[in-house]
Amino acid sequence: MIMEQIKYSQAFKNACNKYYGNYEKIASYGTNQAEDVYLGDKNNQVCRFCGRKKGEVTFKKKAHALSNLIGNDRLFSYYECDDCNGNRFSKYESEFSNYMKLLHCLSQVKGKRGIPSYKSRKDDFTRVDIKDFISVFQKEDETAIAHLDKKNKVIHFKGKRTYIPVNVYKCLLKMALTVMPDSELPEVTNAMDFMMDRKNIKKQLFVGYRQYGGILPFPTPVTMLFKRKDKRVDENVPLYMFLLAYGNFVFQFDIPFCPADNFLFKKEISMPYIPTIADTISPQGLKLLDFSSSERVIKEEYSIDMKFEGMKRNWWVTIKYVLQHPWDSLKRLLTNNLFEMSK
Ligand SMILES: [Zn+2]
Repeated sequence: MIMEQIKYSQAFKNACNKYYGNYEKIASYGTNQAEDVYLGDKNNQVCRFCGRKKGEVTFKKKAHALSNLIGNDRLFSYYECDDCNGNRFSKYESEFSNYMKLLHCLSQVKGKRGIPSYKSRKDDFTRVDIKDFISVFQKEDETAIAHLDKKNKVIHFKGKRTYIPVNVYKCLLKMALTVMPDSELPEVTNAMDFMMDRKNIKKQLFVGYRQYGGILPFPTPVTMLFKRKDKRVDENVPLYMFLLAYGNFVFQFDIPFCPADNFLFKKEISMPYIPTIADTISPQGLKLLDFSSSERVIKEEYSIDMKFEGMKRNWWVTIKYVLQHPWDSLKRLLTNNLFEMSK
């Protein structure tokens, strides 16, 4: 690994030494290049997921290797058919989008249609938008999304989300299986079958999650895949670790159900922490998210705090009890900056 060792803290160096003592990188992709990059073979298109080849299924759509709702518009694959893409994967993506909606909105992650707005499902009125400034329309009652703490210069945002945990997980797993090198595919057939609902395997599915502060430490998505070393520091670590970083967010998890991990069964294992470049500035702890359940989670509350000094755009617009104004006229007023005085 090439690093200018001198600049980094001892804690960061220790984290790197520990991690790279166990793992080697087998794939790594960024998405900030000027040209589109395609994985796979254009002249021999076989869907990695359903196994069908060109002729049996079509490959007309540009298949995003990493979801475009997290901002990838550069990395594609030739080995995802239109059927898998349009039916199964778009369903998983919309679950992931529901799960992250408020966070994507606030951290300005550009999806298919720009930065998503966050809207309350209950009424059409309550919403958070980020264009040139953060605008919050809400009634100041229990449905309020945003709570301004002027004294401490913090805005507490509170949202509600409805999602099926295992489908959120499958959205992430699909990205991991997409960047997996061909040579490793025989090791992950169980994970593939599970993702495609060909096999129903029960296991606890944990994802390590962290959220960094500041303005987009990962302006465009980055992904890495790691494989366990034969000679390693810790014996009991899973075979593959996947990392996905974009915006203020990092997800990491092991590829489940690998036969080479059977020896870990019933052993106490903790998820290896994958250090990222953002850890040099603000190291984070790993929060373990349990996505095992296939039961729909309904209206789960989740929150995020934003300090306004740390934000580039910090105008604050709250309009109280203006339900009588149709949304369009409010938008027009905003465009004319008539609400600037309430910043
Ligand atoms: Zn397919």
